[in-house]
Amino acid sequence: MKEFNLNTLVRKNILSLQPYISFRDHNEFNAPVMLDANECPFGEFNRYPDSSQKKLKNKLKELKSLSPSKIALGNGSDELIDLIIKIFCEPKKDAILMMNPSFAMYAFYAAVNENEVLKLDLDENFEILKDDFIKITQERDIKVFFLCSPNNPTGNSVQDIEFFVKNFDGIVVIDEAYIEFSGNRSGIELLDKYSNLIVLQTFSKAWGTAGARVGAAYASEEIIRFINTVKAPYNVNSLSQELILNLLDNKDKLKENVEKVLEERVWLEKQFKTIECIEKVFPTDANFFLIKMKNVEKVYNRMLEEEILTSKRAPAIPDCIRINVGNREENEKLISVLKRIAS
Ligand SMILES: *Cc1c(COP(=O)(O)O)cnc(C)c1O
Repeated sequence: MKEFNLNTLVRKNILSLQPYISFRDHNEFNAPVMLDANECPFGEFNRYPDSSQKKLKNKLKELKSLSPSKIALGNGSDELIDLIIKIFCEPKKDAILMMNPSFAMYAFYAAVNENEVLKLDLDENFEILKDDFIKITQERDIKVFFLCSPNNPTGNSVQDIEFFVKNFDGIVVIDEAYIEFSGNRSGIELLDKYSNLIVLQTFSKAWGTAGARVGAAYASEEIIRFINTVKAPYNVNSLSQELILNLLDNKDKLKENVEKVLEERVWLEKQFKTIECIEKVFPTDANFFLIKMKNVEKVYNRMLEEEILTSKRAPAIPDCIRINVGNREENEKLISVLKRIAS
């Protein structure tokens, strides 16, 4: 990697922005009389949440072996994607790069900020072509590159991730929303080596708490400081902070979720082989399958008629539907409906 200077990548107005500091959260008190925030003095959730999520970050510190100063929390990792684009991309001027196909929210938040979205088309195995990557990064000035691994909606992991981190002048975001299902090593291990790296993880998938809206960014202290500067002060509410704190005390829950999902994934994959309307099941490292159907419109609509919601990816990915692993009852219903369509 060439010489890296974070300050040349961050938008100028954000470089000089002062974070909102909650006085209460940045000072130590034993039994304060809190008359500083116009809250109601009665009730259980009457107080504003901890804006710096100290307890939660201290727990994550143990789990990830990372200092809390290298952790930012968001209202889902979705919010963190939005904040990262806000920090680095000048509206109407800067561009992001993403894989194609990949997670739609990168392009969505770039569009909100009127940032151009450049796409790297994946090959027939949904791999990135390194030559295309080198070409586009030489031709264009790109601020942020979103790498999704395992990739949504294709399910496969990005090969040789370090190559892309090493050979990119801007910020590389590795979105690891599905990493727990994959057995891959986390990009967190590369943080000490690359100061242009941000790793995103979430409590929405393997942890099973999508409703709580909590995601995490792991990066250098400098990058985390900018995320904390631009975030809404109370972006993670007290109920969610408590819920995730309790969850982190019960790490077996994660293991249990992952084991069950992986078991069901194996079961489903076996069942899919017996289904006539399925043309191809792509290999997956995640909790979902991308499946090529023989008559995608018909199959998708027939499933809908039976109140089975799946994610139609055609025509962007021709003939394909993304189906996530459910519980055994759901999976059995899916298979029985697919079997009926086949006949
Ligand atoms: C589901 C998903 C997320 C998680 O979003 P949250 O806002 O944390 O719920 C992030 N990235 C990808 C690629 C996803 O598929």
